[in-house]
Amino acid sequence: MAYNTDNIFAKILRGEAPAFKVYEDDYSLAFMDVMPQVEGHTLVIPKDPTENLHDADPIILGHTMATVQRVSAAVKQAFDSPGIMIAQLNGVPAGQTVFHLHFHILPRADGLDIGMHARNMADFAVLETHAQRVREALA
Ligand code: AMP
Repeated sequence: MAYNTDNIFAKILRGEAPAFKVYEDDYSLAFMDVMPQVEGHTLVIPKDPTENLHDADPIILGHTMATVQRVSAAVKQAFDSPGIMIAQLNGVPAGQTVFHLHFHILPRADGLDIGMHARNMADFAVLETHAQRVREALA
């Protein structure tokens, strides 16, 4: 399937849609998931127009994974999280809903359940405080 430039993450990259950004460099962008499955749920995307893992240029993927590693450490610190789950879905049968490659960073802890995927919109004021915690951990 050809990359669809109307997807929401492409709009965020073009500045046409808002995002609670926490990190950006030449290759990648990280921002809070607006329908978090758990507090601190953060997404990392390449800036390259890439639909999924299998379409990705390996060099770009390497840069993106470096950002995943960096932002994951910040999320872990910001949310005092003993565990971090990285998730990445490819294709509708796998549950992918936004067709621009992205990595989910999800804090995990014993007894802390994760919510339904892409279901409940967060309070934006709360999301901004969460974004700020991640930014401070990255600083
Ligand atoms: P996936 O189902 O793996 O494609 O994940 C897409 C993710 O994007 C879901 O977790 C959604 O909650 C999240 N999402 C959808 N729209 C936005 C948006 N405008 N800003 C941030 N996250 C979004």
